Amino acid sequence: MGVARILVIGGGIAGTAAALALHKAGFESSVHEAHPGSAEDLGAFLTLASNGMRALAQIDASDAVRAVGFPLTSMRVLDDAGAELAQVPLGEAADSLLQYRCLRRGDLNAALQTEAARRGIVIRHGARLASVQDGPDGVTAHFTDGSTATGDLLIGADGLNSTVRRQIAPDAQPCYAGQRVFYGYTRAAARSEPDARITMVRGSTAAFGHAVSPDGETYWFARVAGEPLPADEIADGSPAGWRELLVPLLRKDATPAADIVAATGDDVMVTNATEIPAGTPWRSGRTLLVGDAAHAASPVTGQGASMALEDAVVLAKSLRDAPDTETALRLYEELRRPRVEHNITVSGNISRGVHSPSPAARGTAVPRPGDDELVRLLEWGVDVWTRSG
Ligand SMILES: Cc1cc2nc3c(=O)[nH]c(=O)nc-3n(C[C@H](O)[C@H](O)[C@H](O)COP(=O)(O)OP(=O)(O)OC[C@H]3O[C@@H](n4cnc5c(N)ncnc54)[C@H](O)[C@@H]3O)c2cc1C
Repeated sequence: MGVARILVIGGGIAGTAAALALHKAGFESSVHEAHPGSAEDLGAFLTLASNGMRALAQIDASDAVRAVGFPLTSMRVLDDAGAELAQVPLGEAADSLLQYRCLRRGDLNAALQTEAARRGIVIRHGARLASVQDGPDGVTAHFTDGSTATGDLLIGADGLNSTVRRQIAPDAQPCYAGQRVFYGYTRAAARSEPDARITMVRGSTAAFGHAVSPDGETYWFARVAGEPLPADEIADGSPAGWRELLVPLLRKDATPAADIVAATGDDVMVTNATEIPAGTPWRSGRTLLVGDAAHAASPVTGQGASMALEDAVVLAKSLRDAPDTETALRLYEELRRPRVEHNITVSGNISRGVHSPSPAARGTAVPRPGDDELVRLLEWGVDVWTRSG
């Protein structure tokens, strides 16, 4: 099977980065994104870790992404009495290309999409996939507006509730990872952080994190153990309601957390930490899953977006370097599955309180298999098939 035409379903982080990486490797792809605009889901923010920034550098997208958000170079850890437990550099803090970066997800998506468009990659907005039809001569995507697109390979980068995954692995169900995650922004909180530092609080009732952007906006999250919030409660909930739920919990501790949340206006959001069970099939015929569609993890380790960026680079290099497409897709899965599933397990264990205290909260990096190997794996000039270059 040749791969002259690649369909990418989903123009989020995984899909757009995959299209950029495939383009650099000489493959033609088109991106099909359900949302009509480019900067959807502006609410949530995330942190790209050094490994994610390294992947971005390999696809020449560092400048595009460093134009949004702000760097984080150190992390301070507090206990529930507000005492400092640790202060450590974050990732490859000394390298301006690889520093952690905190950004709104919508800004990251928009930056990647703009860069893709600049390189001539077609991104079709308002194209919601309904079903996939795989055959010996090609794979056809059917969209809800009645349109279709046919390619040699279809990459399902359509996120946690992936339609593509339902076709490949109808029995795989995203599952709750034990915590509700609140997050928000405020310009009204007292400025408690110097630039480029994130503070993690090991509270008695919640894990809390906050950082302040250079222009004075505090970004915060809180992870609280408990039953999952029902979907209708999330849909109907109000920012004031979430604040009222959270502030009393955070007030139990002598940390800055409660005041920051109390100072937040309407920018309060909540979601259930959700993961895709390890072992979920990623592949069937001409269809492959990447990013959250394949391996969403609870957000504790803050690695989902970085893993999606790594996926993009490794997929493009596998297709570039392996002798044929079948081998490339097998190689991709061999190279990616252990690492991303380790992340699902580590993150899920911390979410569920199975590991206590978490390595991250102790101020040490979460160990991940293959980190040393990863640098070579991502390095654009290194052949992933022969491991030469
Ligand atoms: C609260 C929270 C905090 C997080 N914090 C971090 C963090 O700090 N660091 C980190 O690295 N990660 C974090 N993550 C995880 C990160 O957001 C995800 O791993 C990342 O967004 C995955 O990218 P993706 O492109 O695979 O999926 P998504 O970002 O979900 O993109 C999927 C895209 O597919 C589109 N789509 C969906 N269905 C269809 C369809 N049928 N047809 C066409 N298009 C479709 C969607 O519109 C979307 O644009 C966090 C997640 C949460 C929930």
